[in-house]
Amino acid sequence: MRTETEHTIYLKDYAPTPYTIVSVDLDFGIAPDTTKVRAQLTIEPREGTAAGTPLVLDGEELKLEEIAIDGAPLVLSAYAADANGLTVVNPPQRRFVLETLVAITPETNTRLMGLYRSSGVWCTQCEPEGFRRITYYLDRPDILATFKVRMTADEALAPVLLANGNLVSRGSLGNGQHFAVWEDPFPKPAYLFALVAGDLGSITDTYTTGSGRKVDLAIYCAHGKEEQCLWAMDSLKRSMAWDEKRFGREYDLDVFNIVAVSDFNFGAMENKGLNIFNDRLVFARPETATDADYESIERVIAHEYFHNWTGNRITCRDWFQLCLKEGLTVYRDQEFTSDERSRAVKRISDVVTLRATQFPEDGGPLAHPPRPDHYREINNFYTPTVYEKGAEVVRMLATLLGQDGFRKGMDLYFERHDGEATTIEAFLKVFEDANEVDLTQFKTWYLQAGTPKVTVSDSYDAASQTYTLSISQETAPTPGEPEKSDVVLPIKFGLIGPNGSPMGWSGVTGGEVSDDMIVLRGKSAEITFSGVASRPVPSFFREFSAPVNLETDLTQEDRLFLARHDSDPFNRWQALQDVGLALVKDMVAGKQTDEGAIGALSAAMDDTLASGSLDDAFKALALTLPDEQLIGRAIGKDIDPEAIHRARVALIRAVFRPLAGKMRGAYVALGSDAPYQPDAVQAGRRALRNRLMALLVTADPEGPALAAEQYRNATNMTDRFAALAAIGVAWTADAAPLLADFRTRFAGDPLVFDKWLAVSARAEDEGVLERVQAILADPTFPKNNPNRLRSLVGSFAMNNPVQFTRADGAGFRFVTQFVADVDTRNPQVAARVLTGFRVWPMLEATRREAAREALTALKESEGLSRNTSDILTRMLG
Ligand code: ZN
Repeated sequence: MRTETEHTIYLKDYAPTPYTIVSVDLDFGIAPDTTKVRAQLTIEPREGTAAGTPLVLDGEELKLEEIAIDGAPLVLSAYAADANGLTVVNPPQRRFVLETLVAITPETNTRLMGLYRSSGVWCTQCEPEGFRRITYYLDRPDILATFKVRMTADEALAPVLLANGNLVSRGSLGNGQHFAVWEDPFPKPAYLFALVAGDLGSITDTYTTGSGRKVDLAIYCAHGKEEQCLWAMDSLKRSMAWDEKRFGREYDLDVFNIVAVSDFNFGAMENKGLNIFNDRLVFARPETATDADYESIERVIAHEYFHNWTGNRITCRDWFQLCLKEGLTVYRDQEFTSDERSRAVKRISDVVTLRATQFPEDGGPLAHPPRPDHYREINNFYTPTVYEKGAEVVRMLATLLGQDGFRKGMDLYFERHDGEATTIEAFLKVFEDANEVDLTQFKTWYLQAGTPKVTVSDSYDAASQTYTLSISQETAPTPGEPEKSDVVLPIKFGLIGPNGSPMGWSGVTGGEVSDDMIVLRGKSAEITFSGVASRPVPSFFREFSAPVNLETDLTQEDRLFLARHDSDPFNRWQALQDVGLALVKDMVAGKQTDEGAIGALSAAMDDTLASGSLDDAFKALALTLPDEQLIGRAIGKDIDPEAIHRARVALIRAVFRPLAGKMRGAYVALGSDAPYQPDAVQAGRRALRNRLMALLVTADPEGPALAAEQYRNATNMTDRFAALAAIGVAWTADAAPLLADFRTRFAGDPLVFDKWLAVSARAEDEGVLERVQAILADPTFPKNNPNRLRSLVGSFAMNNPVQFTRADGAGFRFVTQFVADVDTRNPQVAARVLTGFRVWPMLEATRREAAREALTALKESEGLSRNTSDILTRMLG
């Protein structure tokens, strides 16, 4: 395997650069084919830098045309430029200005890092290491500088010229060219730099902060899409208000701009004052966007806005600290959604996502701690572990300290570190100082990979009226980490009496226990409650208070009791999941089906549906059995995805067929003529109705016809797409004609095309691979657009567990060949799709060998990117 430069970077090697950059003046001459970038960097040696220490700047794919220091051109022997950057051999030992002129070609930039062109629009993506593809620079987050940016471009090609900060001046140059100058007063690392130039439409609005500062808001997009940006604008204003109320954080510039672009490697980017978004996370109208799309837009708009304080005002010292900004900001956006919508529903959905994305990462070949201590390619660490587990760790901190203690720590964080590039250590220290606690052991959560397994057993002694819990924790080894430490576990809990109400106790020994929380710090504890009048049913990890796998000796009856009586909605939902999971595991193992337990689950589902107190969105989640991949991981080894699929379908039929009549009745009753609104209540109603529809497609002979009818009569995308997905994935007789209808009905809307691609790739029949290959081979298929590629091949690799893992290996080979091809143009997309293989070591032998062969063949490819070779090497172990 020959690859790009291989090198491993270690956290322990962190050292400040000998020189620092205090201010930056950039002048962009933007023009088709070649853009010229003149940079004037004001540079200073740091105290203690020895004379003669060379200045080493990063730079990639730059053509150096001029170089000078303080106005004097450098002689050839004074510098050296190569594929990785520029070295100035003997820079002055005082403040000086390094001026360079480079030429770049955004038009051929298919990696979509640095300055590139998307549908005619020039735009940038610099996090984490894209700025070095724009000019020579110290491209690392601990270099904070103020930026002034001048742009010139053709007035017709690029009437809109945007950069970070505030607009200082703009005007025509007379010759068909115009210019704009932007200045950002807040020192920032280069990864937050952004520029946009193009012919764009926009919507505008204003927001007045609590202290009376008026902020001009704008969202820029392709002409004709303006009205599809209104929901994003509404979400932005609510985010701004929420951050003031909940965290006391106000916006700090006169303008806040968002730009939607159609070629983007991931979701969105928090550049100071100029957020750039994948357009799928901006555009929404009822006919083409689902409730889930509306919620994602709201969430990501909030996320990027919240970065203004957690990420921009306070940034990361180095990329090992990525979860300092990402985990924290995900936590903040989760809280925003919880406050705006339903807290319980949000928590359940987030845990479903965590288990579907982070747990498999943590339990497979790509496992890494939220704060890794080495990497080869930092782009491969924008992971569910850094983001979602990072958010769980912050959530545990809030749980342990309480909301007030957590807020005190956050206030101190903003006060102490504003304007700095800092570390996880500094973050934890503010909570220690504000609350007078010691978080030494808590820090382990950041430093160690793997999902802890917590085992609890209980016993009740009627004679002494004592109730005892034995709790222990264990984290299995992960790649490179054979020994694990014990972590601090906040275990929110309650005891429930036989009549379903909470039970108290008069005394407790053997552990750290408060009213509603046990804190386990050691490997195990034995906790005895006295004054317990009868045997309780315990409820552990309420609200999913720690990201662990829990094993208890609760019986199916205990779980059904919790599903009915637990005061914590999360654990009511969890109890039903556990009942279903136990049943399906038995079915996969070929054990005698437990008709009694199936009947009881069916009755519990019936009660859930009929409940007058539960809200619709919660019911929709409760009526969803664990997905196939989760079942696979619960089985843990020698997974046969086909057997799991068959068992799960059989369980759905057994549980829901007896309820089909009632479900159809509820389905009809939930119909509504109210005009579409994206709010949580209406969305919950649609979620429940569509859940019933999907269950009926599997469990009721009349289901497919009902879904097809819903597809035809739908007045919004949520209902239409839910029907299409149910039919398309199950690949019933209606699938092909409805998919064809969908494709022509929305021809010309690329984001709806993505939905069509995703359903097409998830079909459960054996023909799916051939169809996916045919779609990809079509000469009109947009082969360089990340959204299209991910919707098709990403969905196949990540969300079609049966067909991707076909025993003949054809699914694996298709994906590795795709990766090899795309890798030559866009390594980030290639590497991301390849992570779909992370389940392979757990598969049964035939599939496992087929996966190994496909991966090994990929390893033989010439010239793999660092991104892909890093994933591949770790994947093969
Ligand atoms: Zn983020």
